[in-house]
Amino acid sequence: MPSVTRPGTHPRAQTRPPQSSTEAAGARRETGQATTEVAVPNRPTAPPADSFAPASAGPVVDISGASAPAMGSETNVLEFQSVALGADGRGPLIALDLPVDVRSVLVEMKGKDGTYYLVDRLEGPDGTELVRPSASSENAVEGPFSSPNRSSATLSGTGALLVPNTDTGTIGPGRWQFGVQGYRLCESGTLPADGTVDVKVHIQCGKPLARGKIDLQVNIPAIHGWKAADAEGNQYLAQVLSSAREHLKRAGLDIGKLTFRDIDASFATASDYALPEGMGACAPEELFKQSDSSGALSVFLLKNLYVAGNQVGGLSGGIPGPASPSTSASGVAVSLDPSYRDPKEVGKSLAHEIGHYLGLSHTFEADLSMNDAITDTPEGTAGRRNLMYFEGPLQRDVARLDLSAGQARVVLSHPLVHR
Ligand SMILES: [Zn+2]
Repeated sequence: MPSVTRPGTHPRAQTRPPQSSTEAAGARRETGQATTEVAVPNRPTAPPADSFAPASAGPVVDISGASAPAMGSETNVLEFQSVALGADGRGPLIALDLPVDVRSVLVEMKGKDGTYYLVDRLEGPDGTELVRPSASSENAVEGPFSSPNRSSATLSGTGALLVPNTDTGTIGPGRWQFGVQGYRLCESGTLPADGTVDVKVHIQCGKPLARGKIDLQVNIPAIHGWKAADAEGNQYLAQVLSSAREHLKRAGLDIGKLTFRDIDASFATASDYALPEGMGACAPEELFKQSDSSGALSVFLLKNLYVAGNQVGGLSGGIPGPASPSTSASGVAVSLDPSYRDPKEVGKSLAHEIGHYLGLSHTFEADLSMNDAITDTPEGTAGRRNLMYFEGPLQRDVARLDLSAGQARVVLSHPLVHR
C-alpha cells in the first residue's frame, strides 16, 4: 500500500470482498471434496509431501495430516497444493493440524494474473472465528476485512494472510479450518473467479521472537545511473537504509543480510493503471515477479510509482506479502521521485512498506473511519507519529516514528523474519 496517500488513493477497491453474484447462486458446485493428506515436513509420522492422495470423500481438504507436534522445528512449510474454486469463487474448507508450539501461520495463494485471492474463512478448534466470510455485501468493511484477523487482497495473482496479525489474536494447537476465495474486478464490482489456486502454508513454531532480522535484496533498475556493484559506496542509498533501520528498530527488527542486484531499466517506473503514451511503466505485479531472493525480502528502488492514478512513495505486494519469491506480490517498492526525495523520507517509506509486508495495516483508514485491530496503537489522527499512519506526507516533521509492542509482535511473526 502506498505510504504517500491522499484519501482515496489507496487501492481500496481491491480489498472489496467478492459479492455473491446471482449467477453463482444456486449453482454452488461442491468442488475438491476428496479428503487429502499432505505431510508437514519434519514430521516422520506423516506421509510424503507430494502424496496428496484422495482418501475417503468428505467436506474438508486436509493438507496437514499428521497431528504430532513439531517441537524444536522453527518453520514447517506445506508446499503448494492445488485447490479448486467453486462457482461462487470459494474453495473447500482446508483442515490444518497445528502443533503445540505453533506461534504463527502464513497462508500463501498463487493463481492467475488478473484474479485476486484471499483467505475468507478461518476457524479455530474451539469454533473461534478469526476470519469471517462476507455474506453478499459489496462493502469492504464487512467480512474478511473487518474480521478479528483482518484479511484482504492487494495485488492480482497472489494473496497471503498472516495469523495472528493483531496483539490479541491467537493461534494455537489443534485442527484449524480455512477457506480461500478468488474474484475478478469488473465495472460493477467483482465477479467470482474460477479455476484452481495453489495454497502454501508456513507454520512457525517455538518461542515468539523478542527481536529479529530481515534480509533485503535491493533491486536497482539503472535509476540515476546506479549499479548494484557500486551500491555499497552510494551515500544516498546508505542514508535510505539507515533511516529505514532507525524506524524498524522500534519493533525490535533489524536489517540483516543486504544484497544488491541490477534489473532492467524498463522496471524503473511502475503503475497499476495505463499511463499516457510515452510514460512507459510496468504493472506492480510484473515488477514483483522479478524478485529472486529466497529467504529475503525484495526491495525495488524506482524512479516513479503510481497507484490508482496518483504518484505515491511506496507500495507493498500485500498485507502481508508472501514469504516465497518470484510471485506477483513478492516485494516492496519505493520511489525516489518526485524530485529525488530526501533519503530520510524514502527510508520512512521503505520502513512503512516493510511494515505492511510483514502484516501491519494502517493504524487508521480515514476513508473507512476504521482503526487497526491492534489495541496499543493510537486511534484516528492521533496516530500521526506511528510508522503505519496512512498519510506519510503529514509525518515530515517527525524524526522517529513509533511502532507499538503490539505491532512488534506482528512483524516478528512473519516467516521472513529470523533470529
Ligand atoms: Zn501504507
